[in-house]
Amino acid sequence: MPELPDIYILAKSMNEALKDKVIVGAHVNQPKCLNISAKKFKDSIKGRRIEDVNQRGKWVIVSLDSDYTLVLNLGMGGEVRLHNQNEKPNPERERIVLNLNTGEQVWIHHWWFGHVHLFNSKDITKHKQISKLGPEPLSDSFTVEKFTELLKGKRGRIKSYLLDQSFIAGIGNVYIQDTLWYARIHPNRRANTLTDKEIKSLYDAIQRVLKQGIRYGGGPGEQDIWGNQGTYSKHLQVGYRTGKPCPRCKTTIEELRVGSTTSYICSKCQV
Ligand SMILES: [Zn+2]
Repeated sequence: MPELPDIYILAKSMNEALKDKVIVGAHVNQPKCLNISAKKFKDSIKGRRIEDVNQRGKWVIVSLDSDYTLVLNLGMGGEVRLHNQNEKPNPERERIVLNLNTGEQVWIHHWWFGHVHLFNSKDITKHKQISKLGPEPLSDSFTVEKFTELLKGKRGRIKSYLLDQSFIAGIGNVYIQDTLWYARIHPNRRANTLTDKEIKSLYDAIQRVLKQGIRYGGGPGEQDIWGNQGTYSKHLQVGYRTGKPCPRCKTTIEELRVGSTTSYICSKCQV
């Protein structure tokens, strides 16, 4: 499932490939991923110029002219890809196809669940999921003071808060692994037991790992609009490396279940 760095890379590539192009038509092969009827979607999106594309949490935000916003959530195994005029989408695979004035097409595929929502830009504050997103961890307003404030009085496991999109946006089960390892914190630690020094280490690790993900073009199996694969997985320290030595102390990396997710940890480094 794509996380912040993956969506950042995708949105950036979409901005580069699609900015100022006009959507001249759309095909809807999976009406249930829309927030409005297929007819209304097709009528409203036709003729809209793409102004810019950004990332917010695990969402792609496409600003269109005439005060429309299109938001995409790829769920699991989703893709957004640019194709030539003469390529034919498989209607069972490509849930939504957007046709551009250049003749190109944007194919939106979801393997599991995914969302394609179109609405008036002013209604973004009413969007059921986006309006509830927590702070954007790479934004200037997300400071260590803010992070400390958020953690105050939180008695649950630190990992659960970091994965909670309403607590902090964009982190998922891939990037969290090395984040906790760099910070030397066990995923089961109760948030209210973290010292100020540990909170600062965790804050720094969040910044470091998300920026690394972006630098390497995204995580395992994630692609930009042209299909370029991310290589972040080659740089994982403990994540998905069960049985291998910890790069810091050589202890064997273990896999453990925390809640409904798997964690990869060094039991010596992470306490
Ligand atoms: Zn270690």
